Amino acid sequence: MAQPKYKIATIGSHSGLQIFKGAHDEGFQTIAVCKKGSEKPYKMFNSADEIIIVDSYANFPKIQDLLIKKNAIIVPHGSFVTYMGYQEVEKLKVLYYGNKKILKWESDRYLERQWLKNAGLKVPLLFDRPKDIDRLVIVKFMGAEGGKGYFLAKDEKDFNKKIKPYKLRKYIIQEYIIGVPLFIHYFYSSLTNEIEIMGCDIRYESNVDSLGRISARDQVALPKIDPSYVIVGNIPVVVRESFLPRLIEMGENVVKTSKKLAPPGLFGPFCLETILTPEEEIFVFEISARIVAGTNPFIEGSPYTWLKYNIPMSTGRRIAIEIKNAIKMNQMKKVLG
Ligand code: ATP
Repeated sequence: MAQPKYKIATIGSHSGLQIFKGAHDEGFQTIAVCKKGSEKPYKMFNSADEIIIVDSYANFPKIQDLLIKKNAIIVPHGSFVTYMGYQEVEKLKVLYYGNKKILKWESDRYLERQWLKNAGLKVPLLFDRPKDIDRLVIVKFMGAEGGKGYFLAKDEKDFNKKIKPYKLRKYIIQEYIIGVPLFIHYFYSSLTNEIEIMGCDIRYESNVDSLGRISARDQVALPKIDPSYVIVGNIPVVVRESFLPRLIEMGENVVKTSKKLAPPGLFGPFCLETILTPEEEIFVFEISARIVAGTNPFIEGSPYTWLKYNIPMSTGRRIAIEIKNAIKMNQMKKVLG
């Protein structure tokens, strides 16, 4: 039977431009689902062959039938999962690239931690009770919110003072690791069972990344500046080459463990969010089981994808190639979840 002509669809946000560019490079038509006013970039950069406007992303399930008629394959990204919540994503009937069952494991900080630990990765300590705080900690709220409101505390007293405005929110108290935050982008093919490093980035976050521009003397003189971690953009990084064997092994272990947690396991793009200490320890504080916005600087490819492919290869394009290969091999079941 002839294969239907599939289209690539996602929400117009996060890494949509990259996903659509990659889809176009591989000959797919694209559909952007946008909230009114957010469609502009997708028009400006000729990214979307069609734009579907919704009042709110929570209404995404309502346009499913339309997407199904158009043979759309959803490529999920960070905003897609955040706006809808993993339970809603799990219920979607429209074709979906990736394993939906793994989303639960990345959406809950405790399950995520269990996954990372089972994979043998080093994770920062967690403190169950504020009175246990015996070192610098970062207090994070549940749900990916781009680090809004996160704060540092040095002891219980400090914590109690700073938590006041957020009393009703669920939070975790995590050891603060001093080192360089590094985000490692991977791709695991469910067709070939091979893992690839697609690139690395560091984030530029407001205001924490601007505090170093104010001398300690001036910071002390100012009434009150608490660091916050609101993401502004991403900067490409090439890591020290001797770190690569460890980074590859970490990705392999995470995939291997995921096969037991949520069969058939994690596949497609994912990211390990790490901090590298001066002792060369690598702490993983989060995993994202889908494309991350840190891949956006690499629309033309990263040094790593250049080594492997010799043509411009973004993560968005790599996804499109995977779908194209699955179509060719009659293996769509292996890439849809
Ligand atoms: P997202 O889902 O967009 O990644 P988030 O709300 O889950 O955001 P985190 O990524 O967990 O937030 O943390 C935000 C920022 O805080 C990180 O980019 C990093 O700079 C810093 N950070 C997080 N955990 C730690 C830690 N244990 N030690 C030091 N810095 C940390």
